[in-house]
Amino acid sequence: MGKIDSIKKILGIERYTKYTGDYFDRSNIRSSLYVSSVVVLLELWMIISTLFFQFFGNLNRSKIWLITHLTSYGLLLISALTLLIYSLLHVKKIIKRKKEWFAIRLVFSIISLCFGIYISYLDYLKGEQFITLMTMTIIVFCFTVWRPLYSILLLTGSYTLFFILCHNSMPTTYATKVNLTIVMIIILLSAINAYRQKLSEAQKDERLEQAHDILLKLSISDEVTGVANMNYFRGQAFELMNKADVIPSDFIYLYFDIENFKMLNQKYGFWEGNTFLKEFADFLGVIFENSIIAHFSNDNFVVLTKDEKIKDKIMQICKKLTEYKYDIKLGLKVGAYKPENKEVLPLMACDHARYACNSIKKYYNLTYCIYDKDMSLRFQKKQHIINNFDQAIKNEYIKVYYQPVVNASTGKLFGLEALARWQDPQFGFLSPADFIETLEEYHLIHRLDMFVVERVCRDIKDAKQKGRKIIPTSLNFSRLDFDSLNLAQEVADCLEKYNIDKTEIHIEITESTLSEDDEKLKAELKSFRSHGYALWLDDFGSGYSGLNVLKEYDFDLIKIDMKFLSNFEVNQKSRQILKNVINLAKDLGMQTLTEGVETQEQYDFLREIGCEKLQGYLFSKPISRADFEAKLDDGSLVID
Ligand code: C2E
Ligand code: CA
Ligand code: CA
Repeated sequence: MGKIDSIKKILGIERYTKYTGDYFDRSNIRSSLYVSSVVVLLELWMIISTLFFQFFGNLNRSKIWLITHLTSYGLLLISALTLLIYSLLHVKKIIKRKKEWFAIRLVFSIISLCFGIYISYLDYLKGEQFITLMTMTIIVFCFTVWRPLYSILLLTGSYTLFFILCHNSMPTTYATKVNLTIVMIIILLSAINAYRQKLSEAQKDERLEQAHDILLKLSISDEVTGVANMNYFRGQAFELMNKADVIPSDFIYLYFDIENFKMLNQKYGFWEGNTFLKEFADFLGVIFENSIIAHFSNDNFVVLTKDEKIKDKIMQICKKLTEYKYDIKLGLKVGAYKPENKEVLPLMACDHARYACNSIKKYYNLTYCIYDKDMSLRFQKKQHIINNFDQAIKNEYIKVYYQPVVNASTGKLFGLEALARWQDPQFGFLSPADFIETLEEYHLIHRLDMFVVERVCRDIKDAKQKGRKIIPTSLNFSRLDFDSLNLAQEVADCLEKYNIDKTEIHIEITESTLSEDDEKLKAELKSFRSHGYALWLDDFGSGYSGLNVLKEYDFDLIKIDMKFLSNFEVNQKSRQILKNVINLAKDLGMQTLTEGVETQEQYDFLREIGCEKLQGYLFSKPISRADFEAKLDDGSLVID
């Protein structure tokens, strides 16, 4: 700190921060209120008592004395009253002009000092002490605080003036000079001390306030984007929705998902990713003015806004996304939910909007989806699935059904595919289409799959014990199983427990979950194969990977997706494609199985073009183990 700064500091003429300035103002206004009230009362009392003694006492003061004294009391009374009123208006926040208030305070102080000087001067002439001047300086400098420079100037000024007046009328004694100086210095020191204390209080408070602000900001807003975080959003939304004059159905919750943001992050790094998110959040703020905006997770934002021109606004955001010069195409999916009443909690509303958003993820041409009744039922089902999965496993609501796989050449049984079924007491029959995706989303799928493995092993063991002939069963596994479990080990343990041979099961992996550069999965599948398990590629042709997957992974058999048969009767092309796929598989040394065979015509064609294995309703729907055994027993299914 330079010398000038030190001097400024001592004199108290350094610049205040806004907080410190306000702190001083607040504290001075409050003190002024008390001081001016006291002065008002004091002066009123002085005026009344003077008049009383004049008329009822026997003091017999001269007219001049009366006029000058009453005038000074009156002046002081008026200035104190003005200060009192102004301070009161400030405290009540009726007026906010601080400069005006300061001027009034200054005038009041100068009048007080002049009053002190004048009365004490008169007292001095009568040989009395300068008590009034002392009182007035204490009132002016010790109750409210001044910057030290003001204190020094005003105090020394008034004491010097007082001294000159007195000295000129009647030379002062040495003792008077000393007394006067000591009193002045003491009051000055007290004034400076009071100032320093207030300043340090203000600064301490300011630091606390700043720390509080930072903590508050951290707790309510998201670090990356600066908009609200989930928790804060929840509170704000709740508050808004529960205002008396708010009609919930005028509002809408929007859940935003930015497609391909992960790729952007990977390619351009986190820094760029964060910059993008911040810009996106800012843009949401521009489009959805006066709305509550929050960043929920990576590329997910939520907005609670008035339900006005939503589609137009979303179009603007989509347009904005296309303006970025990244060589990654960013897309947008938006789910919406309109709250019907005040009872809908914000997080539930966001869940609904998110659900709507997720429901269109698969459809590249859809951007916006609003949560409706149909979705509501699916949503409830989903919640039910998540909440009741444990119970369903425990209470065996989940069952394993089996669908026969036949040899095309003979039409007789080659094997079975194990398929999960959920017979729910509340929702009735739930098909895998209802629950597989949800279990995957919530990372519960490995528990279902291991449950199915265990049931299949138990059923095979039972069948063996009954002396039945065993045919292999294929098991469906999710890509996620490989992340959640040491799958190879878990399967091996289960087989060992029930004394089942590896050849008695097949492992099915869906094509859509495979990607060319998934080295981990590649290694795991290789290891499965090298341990002697047959590996089947499920739903071939349903995803995008298709031929590339065949190049990168080794499979024993490919299951051709049933969509190839979907308009088999009318579309000659699908026959051609089937033929080619089957030939290609043969060239690559793999067997083929076509799923979804429903008609004799399809069967005849597939057999003709050399597809080895078939599965479909023509042969049998998935059935329970008991039904399967009954069909074996009555000869409607025959093992090859
Ligand atoms: P997927 O593995 O492709 O299973 C074949 C699906 O096609 C089964 O549906 C079956 O009922 C159906 N299907 C079979 N033949 C025909 C037919 O001729 N016509 C028609 N229209 N459909 C036929 P499901 O049982 O509903 O299973 C659906 C999907 O759920 C399965 O497809 C499989 O990917 C998955 N899944 C089923 N159980 C499990 C399981 O335990 N674990 C895992 N990870 N996935 C499972
Ligand atoms: Ca399958
Ligand atoms: Ca399939």
